[in-house]
Amino acid sequence: MPYGNPNIINIAAFGIPLADVSPSSPSQRFISEDGVINARARVLGGGSCLNAGFYTRAAPEYVSVVGWDAVREGLLEVGVLPYNGFTYDHFNGSKIGGTIFDQDGKRHTAADLLEYANPSLLTVLLHATVQNILFSTNGTSRPMAQGVVFKDANGTEHRAYLISGSKNEIIISAGALGSPQLLMLSGIGPADHLKSHNISVILDQPSVGQSMKDNPMNAIFVPSPLPVEVSLIQVVGITKFGSYIEAACGAQFAATPSSRDYGILSPRIGQLSTVPPKQRTPEAIAKAIERMSKLEESAFRGGVIIEKIMGPISSGHLELVDTNINNNPSVTFNYFQDPLDLQRCVDGIRLIGDVIESRSFSKFRTSDITFQRLLNGTETAPVNLLPKHTNGRISLEQFCKDTVTTIWHFHGGCLVGSVVDHDYKVIGIDALRVIDGSTFDYSPGTNRQVTVMMLGRYMGLKIHRERSDNSTA
Ligand SMILES: Cc1cc2nc3c(=O)[nH]c(=O)nc-3n(C[C@H](O)[C@H](O)[C@H](O)COP(=O)(O)OP(=O)(O)OC[C@H]3O[C@@H](n4cnc5c(N)ncnc54)[C@H](O)[C@@H]3O)c2cc1C
Repeated sequence: MPYGNPNIINIAAFGIPLADVSPSSPSQRFISEDGVINARARVLGGGSCLNAGFYTRAAPEYVSVVGWDAVREGLLEVGVLPYNGFTYDHFNGSKIGGTIFDQDGKRHTAADLLEYANPSLLTVLLHATVQNILFSTNGTSRPMAQGVVFKDANGTEHRAYLISGSKNEIIISAGALGSPQLLMLSGIGPADHLKSHNISVILDQPSVGQSMKDNPMNAIFVPSPLPVEVSLIQVVGITKFGSYIEAACGAQFAATPSSRDYGILSPRIGQLSTVPPKQRTPEAIAKAIERMSKLEESAFRGGVIIEKIMGPISSGHLELVDTNINNNPSVTFNYFQDPLDLQRCVDGIRLIGDVIESRSFSKFRTSDITFQRLLNGTETAPVNLLPKHTNGRISLEQFCKDTVTTIWHFHGGCLVGSVVDHDYKVIGIDALRVIDGSTFDYSPGTNRQVTVMMLGRYMGLKIHRERSDNSTA
């Protein structure tokens, strides 16, 4: 059954409506085999609907009042130079970055870009989950994508076929977890792995699901004698040694213990909120709340300084758990397997220590708390499912490994040069491209959503031009 006008079927257009975007909803969570709790956006607009949006209010008075200039000044004082002011660009030094939130705090997602589309040429299907891609061989040995099987919200199966024409094609933009998973479920992937799940092999492609990478993030909670505004990321230090320092959420004090919040480390809104309910036992939550209730008000004032490394170099792999597209595949990222990744983290954490101890930061530092105590405090925080080394003074290397979390910049699985060519066409298959973060071998910039969107625009314009050239030829 032909559906709409699918000259190009862009799978990113299939998604769920913007309602259920909380990373704590079951379909949005996943935990890598490394024990790091992660989040996945299954929604029209993808990660841009639930991400941190690199939040920044750039007005100098605002920055001054909430004190984020302390982090900025601290970075400059310890040598993360020059100060590049407010800029979207990626330069070594310290800067204030952009945001996808407007002045009223309203998020503008990738789905908002649909406003600029010509509705007569585009059909967007919501609650439509692609199960697999259909192929024909047209009597040749080279498979050609010809349509997709998708299920609607009621679970009813539909098929959508390309209209015949040499330039018509299917574009997968299902993200770094979704795209390799979908290729495998469609028969493109390591043959032995596909056969073990009774999937007919269309193309034996061992590189699908390989080179899965996630930039490790480590955070340090810094209690402050002065109130700090709750906020997402604003100030970023781009070091020469490959570590990015970002000042993130502040904590919040509330009279009721259950409403107290530790920002990004909070059991309520932070990483822990993405733990599956089964692992968030009432006992575990009650224990956390009890611990929090014993803390003084001052313990809830402060902020989190996070460190993310560039790259990374360490990589892992993705495998199917079963053939249900709704279930997350199993992913291993092998955080810090490469020594340089670990060194970058250590250098970054050391730099955070310098910033905290800088003169500029002194107003926001509780004087009797040493950096080692901050490290020990963070070490005990339940930020991942890994065993802790809480006895005595731990090395910075151990701290990095024990407190590793994610900044949700996971990528890979369909790399350019191995799974897709430089035009993002799936190698060995006709009429099929993958255009999204799964094609990246490296996470660009400090935060990468803009680059993913620009890749989409760049390729969209290129494909449009190729199709126009073809029609006038
Ligand atoms: C919690 C969080 C915070 C982040 N913070 C920031 C930040 O502050 N700044 C920044 O730059 N980046 C941030 N990121 C990263 C950024 O959002 C992602 O890098 C970016 O969204 C990746 O884009 P993508 O198109 O590759 O994949 P995704 O955004 O994951 O999009 C994949 C799309 O495919 C759809 N899909 C998947 N499978 C199927 C299927 N079978 N059928 C139909 N549709 C399907 C999904 O519903 C989704 O719409 C964050 C990410 C997260 C999760």
